[in-house]
Amino acid sequence: MRFYRDLGLTDFYCRQVEPVAAVDDPKLGRSVAEELAEREGLLQAAIAAAAQSAAETAAQQTNIFGEEPAIKTRKGFSAPPEIAAAVPVEERAAALQLIRDEIGDCTRCALHTGRHSIVFADGSPTARLMFVGEGPGADEDAQGLPFVGRAGQLLNNMIAAMGLKREEVYIANVVKCRPPGNRTPEPEEANTCSPFLFRQIDVVRPQVLVALGATAATYLLGARQPLAGLRGRVHAFRGMSLIVTYHPAFLLRDPRQKKEAWADLQIAMKELGLKAPRQS
Ligand code: SF4
Repeated sequence: MRFYRDLGLTDFYCRQVEPVAAVDDPKLGRSVAEELAEREGLLQAAIAAAAQSAAETAAQQTNIFGEEPAIKTRKGFSAPPEIAAAVPVEERAAALQLIRDEIGDCTRCALHTGRHSIVFADGSPTARLMFVGEGPGADEDAQGLPFVGRAGQLLNNMIAAMGLKREEVYIANVVKCRPPGNRTPEPEEANTCSPFLFRQIDVVRPQVLVALGATAATYLLGARQPLAGLRGRVHAFRGMSLIVTYHPAFLLRDPRQKKEAWADLQIAMKELGLKAPRQS
């Protein structure tokens, strides 16, 4: 039964059947044995269809690297905008507000239809460290702030492990409106929204940028590459250091990868000249 349930077959019923040798159905013109054989064939076909459906669903939810939702590649990635002129430290908050004002009550992509809030960013406009995620989830959409749900709590812990406070870093996402069902943003959506992210990055101008997950790495670097090949090293990015690591939501699903994520964060700490606080 569990095997069938794993395949998505949940409804079962039993019907009493007379012994094969004793009962043939003259109206149908065939034996009970033939009828049972037909039912067995139908059941096997249903199992095969359910297995194929389950495999297709799994393929949609997991990319070839088994790490993150797949990013559809039918459309290319927009060229990143030119690096903007540096904004004086004391003007960065106002410059970010200008970007937020320009976004307004945005309807530039389809994600606007299902959102409750535009999730612009959180943190210090003069941060030395910036995190970029994929997009808001339900908690973020409700509160209008990035990384405030369970994944956000884990990110807070990661920041604390680096010896920093959340208020000292800057946090934003590739898209600012919640994709329905927390799906991966479509390329059209990410390409439409990401120019605002690039402008935020250019204003904050952090020393180190950490891409959380494959979607953030893909749209920042402008190419779809295996996360495994991007992690564990420093990428030159718009005059700063870019480190790629797992998305906290993925780490919640697979806590065994936290050690790898910590190794990535230690690379970021080295770039920042930080040492991990002593454990009490
Ligand atoms: S995701 Fe970005 S581009 Fe799309 S509607 Fe929201 S703010 Fe506008």
